[in-house]
Amino acid sequence: MASQVPFLDLKTQQSRIAADLRRRLDAVLDHCKFILGPEVAELEERLATFCGAAQCVAVSSGTDALQIALMAEQVGRGDAVFLPAFTYTATAEVPLLLGATPVFVDVDPHTFQIDPKHLKARISEIRRESRLRPRALIGVDLFGQPADWPALREITAKERLFALDDCAQAFGASLHGVRLGTQADATATSFFPSKPLGAYGDGGALFCEDAARAAAWRSLRTHGEGQTRYEVLRTGMNGRLDSLQAAVLLAKLAIFEDELAAREKVAAAYDAHLSSLVTVPARVAGSASAWAIYAILLPDGAARDRLQAALTVAGVPSAIYYPRPLHLQPAYRAAHDGSRLPVAEDIASRILALPIHPYLSGADIDRIAAAVRAAF
Ligand SMILES: *Cc1c(COP(=O)(O)O)cnc(C)c1O
Repeated sequence: MASQVPFLDLKTQQSRIAADLRRRLDAVLDHCKFILGPEVAELEERLATFCGAAQCVAVSSGTDALQIALMAEQVGRGDAVFLPAFTYTATAEVPLLLGATPVFVDVDPHTFQIDPKHLKARISEIRRESRLRPRALIGVDLFGQPADWPALREITAKERLFALDDCAQAFGASLHGVRLGTQADATATSFFPSKPLGAYGDGGALFCEDAARAAAWRSLRTHGEGQTRYEVLRTGMNGRLDSLQAAVLLAKLAIFEDELAAREKVAAAYDAHLSSLVTVPARVAGSASAWAIYAILLPDGAARDRLQAALTVAGVPSAIYYPRPLHLQPAYRAAHDGSRLPVAEDIASRILALPIHPYLSGADIDRIAAAVRAAF
């Protein structure tokens, strides 16, 4: 069997930031303020500046960021939360944990992002049935590309929905020259190690423009605390970020723009090699992707499975994001009204993700492209 191309390469990145990383980690070991220490405050300031948001609150994970954002709006029983069926499970899990009902929306067949037209139709359906109250939209910037926020905002404004951007895969991406972080009422991101900006453990952040909203998030991430530690204003949670993770993220943020540019180059090289063979990712108009995932479409499921098997033999790892849309997952079937979401179902059956990271060499890209070509 041929030598293995890595799907991700966190080692090369680590050696690049080694000196700065070590200095920052040592500083934490020195001051011993391990939770919400000075690195967390510095990180919040830098992240807000990076994406142009007025407020940033760092939290314990991307999932907790989504939960805190919905808790602050008191989303709960009887509320409908609209979200795409083609996303990671966390997007649907959070509304359910809060007692709300996820309403799954189909996606665009080219960009894979939530389809604004179908969102409108789903909201009308829910209003007609009048069993649930339409409360919130969680738009997902899937694979690192922005969702169609101008269209989504028009709908959420008209329908008076809370707009939450699940930007877990797309921190650093931009739309019409503006970084994601200010498109919705609240933006949540994740620093899971494999995301474009990843920590060495769990982490996440929330962004918004409104200081009162950010204050509620700060309270919620520390058990609903008030002005003093033992004043409890609301039911909160333990959603805090630790200082070591913030130190890692500060070291990585220093090279993040450069890494985003490197990811873009990898995507462009893949396009050039593969666009005559398979369907390469469509670009969302006016956007720059964070390229968390580079996913191609095959004509059908059998072709996808054949290609994946051939790549494995050639030492090229690949992954299926996502093999099953959420409305068909056992855990969520009971919450779903049974309607078919044909685009999400179709894409799940024939999508395949190739390795992408900022340190993928030209030689590796050539080798991966050759393996795809040879499979045809
Ligand atoms: C990774 C991810 C999350 C969850 O983030 P965690 O930090 O792992 O909790 C939420 N939504 C999407 C779309 C994701 O990709």
